[in-house]
Amino acid sequence: MAEQSFKAMLVEEAGEKKYTRRITTRSLSDLPENDLLIRVRYSSLNYKDALSAIGNKGVTRKFPHTPGIDAAGEVVEDKSGRFSKGDQVLVTSYDLGMNTPGGFGEYIRIPADWAVPLPEGLDLRQSMILGTAGFTAGLSVHKLAHGIKPEAGDILVTGATGGVGSMAVDILAKNGYRVVAVTGKQNEVDFLKRLGAAEVISREEVMEGADKPMMKTRWAGAVDVVGGEMLAAVIKATKYGGTVTCCGLVGSPDLPLNVFPFILRGVSLLGIDSVECPMERRLAVWEKLAGPWKPAHLEEAASECTLEDLDEKIDAILKGEIKGRTVVRMS
Ligand code: NDP
Repeated sequence: MAEQSFKAMLVEEAGEKKYTRRITTRSLSDLPENDLLIRVRYSSLNYKDALSAIGNKGVTRKFPHTPGIDAAGEVVEDKSGRFSKGDQVLVTSYDLGMNTPGGFGEYIRIPADWAVPLPEGLDLRQSMILGTAGFTAGLSVHKLAHGIKPEAGDILVTGATGGVGSMAVDILAKNGYRVVAVTGKQNEVDFLKRLGAAEVISREEVMEGADKPMMKTRWAGAVDVVGGEMLAAVIKATKYGGTVTCCGLVGSPDLPLNVFPFILRGVSLLGIDSVECPMERRLAVWEKLAGPWKPAHLEEAASECTLEDLDEKIDAILKGEIKGRTVVRMS
């Protein structure tokens, strides 16, 4: 194939603990030698992308680097023979956007076994409104719904206006659960109710009484993205036999808790990892996200930007100021 140039975000090290980011021209030879070349049509912004974009070495070890843990587009070439030219595929997680140049570029070249054929029921843009955040919400609901049925009671979703939170609110509400959404953005109560939250409460309300080892029970289950003291408070207020899923750390990676909720109330804490999720489960969850779990208000939760607009969106997600999902449209 003739050498082709394309547009991508490039994050560069500009001194000790100093990083710059710009949109620049790259060429296909800058991409790694993998089997599957994809013309990216849409990507999306996740919290992890922002960490990569500010030089977080826990996410990206080597710079210069193009972030973007999500990408959806068409197959240009597949040396593995698994996909045909023109096939529509989506890619989330594995090493994409971490140490492999990611979806904030118009082309990616990845191992073919990272790609998921676009499931029927989703177009490329919708698949990226969901993206890693929607997939993680799907994994959380998958684990939660295993033991907790809608009649069990209220399901709490923390970080509810964020990517994972907003998708989880919608999926749970669509599937008959009574969702209580926690947010720090009191001006977004209507947004959360439109997504399906039956009730919206403040972070302070979740934390009331959290200094005690156990709290009055309130939640049949919970989807947590915050970690830290909020996750501890959620677990302490979860009803007998309830389930809490844990996927994030926007509050803190720590968990200041004793074992009482587990040994006296049989509460389960279930970890969620979207990155190494086995392909069989990955395909099953994407099928559900394209069907019965397809959020009823995908468009309502989405805003769109171009590569050029990403800079300010990255700053906003780091401050917890993003509402819903940000889709990145390639030119
Ligand atoms: P977002 O930034 O889109 O959403 C996070 C939301 O959390 C914010 O919008 C805000 O919502 C709330 N929040 C932010 N800071 C705080 C705080 N200090 N205390 C309480 N609430 C806070 O991020 P994502 O939804 O994309 O990701 C959420 C978390 O999940 C991240 O830690 C991310 O790394 C992790 N994640 C993990 C995955 C996995 O595989 N385990 C996959 C995807 C994400 P509000 O104002 O409504 O309260």
